[in-house]
Amino acid sequence: MPFSELHKALAARKAQGLLRTRRTLSTQQGVHVTVDGNPCLSFCSNDYLGLASHPALIAALQQGAQQYGVGAGASHLVSGHIEVHEQFENAYAEFVGKPAALTFSTGYMANLGVVQALVDRGDFIFADKLNHASLNDAMQLSRAEVKRYRHNGLPQLETQLRQAQGGRKLIITDAVFSMDGDLAPVQEILALAEKHDAWLLLDDAHGFGVLGEQGRGTLSHFKLDSSRIIYMATLGKAAGVTGAVVAAEQVVIDTLLNHARSYIYTTASPPALSSALLASLLTIQGADKERLHLDDLIMYFKSNAAGLPWRLMASATPIQPLVIGSNAEVVQVSEALRERGIWVPAIRPPTVPEGTARLRITFSAAHQREDVTRLLEALHELAQGL
Ligand SMILES: *Cc1c(COP(=O)(O)O)cnc(C)c1O
Repeated sequence: MPFSELHKALAARKAQGLLRTRRTLSTQQGVHVTVDGNPCLSFCSNDYLGLASHPALIAALQQGAQQYGVGAGASHLVSGHIEVHEQFENAYAEFVGKPAALTFSTGYMANLGVVQALVDRGDFIFADKLNHASLNDAMQLSRAEVKRYRHNGLPQLETQLRQAQGGRKLIITDAVFSMDGDLAPVQEILALAEKHDAWLLLDDAHGFGVLGEQGRGTLSHFKLDSSRIIYMATLGKAAGVTGAVVAAEQVVIDTLLNHARSYIYTTASPPALSSALLASLLTIQGADKERLHLDDLIMYFKSNAAGLPWRLMASATPIQPLVIGSNAEVVQVSEALRERGIWVPAIRPPTVPEGTARLRITFSAAHQREDVTRLLEALHELAQGL
């Protein structure tokens, strides 16, 4: 029976401390949640601005459902493209300063679609080794020749660009790395893209809403723009809803509309989600106070976590990973925190490189300073006990 092989493979995974399981929330997403029946303080969502349960977004979603119903009923190119989908795309493009934008149902699908639509056999992709899994899968699907460079390794990227002959060139990078929290050197990468006539796909899943003027994201943070940049952001993280949006030159967007299979061959998202996203965009623009508070929490955490025996990664974003090292130990620390009513997930290989298992602590503007104090006290206590 093939089942016995599956059982064996899962048992082996479990023995290595790598078995993945889910925990179930019975409350809204937020800082104080009930998980598997127990109340706890959460440091593990990507809901950086606390918008996932924001009253303005809930009201907009309800109003959108009243006006447009629930399902879109078809794909965008058949009959599922509704005015509010386009209103959001236009508002978003204007907000991030790009000529046009296209929404996808998820970030995973956006990455698959963009890469597959823009490059093919005979073309080249240059990708940071720590890019998100969806970008790695997208590269495989595209059939282009893939060159992966060391994390933020500009000299290696330049060598690879120089050696690639013929075909289109596409550089792909996370803007904020999802498991490390650090930023890509976007300005330098863009300079290389210009020098070697390449496109740059920037995945700003963790920067949009958090970084830049009014939360416009990583490009605004670096005060950069270029028609070469294809700017992708997800809408299920700081934006608090779901989906993703790609902003670029009109010709790129038209190409995606015609060739991105993950856009074409799928039902359009419920239009009410676009209503919620319009409310999210306004809320993000007005959230300077929340972003300042978030920065304050990050600085407070960093300055007080310095004495811990674990390596705090060099991140200035709400993603603050604490590298524990071994899979067994990271699970032990994560479990011990959970016993204290604090939820921080253990991130293990293959999501991160072997030997760098870590606690991925994420902060939200909905956290209070006391919440961070509670986390710090628990970490210091656990460090002493080990
Ligand atoms: C979360 C994430 C995605 C996927 O987005 P979803 O909307 O969750 O599918 C893509 N890229 C990065 C860097 C991410 O962190």
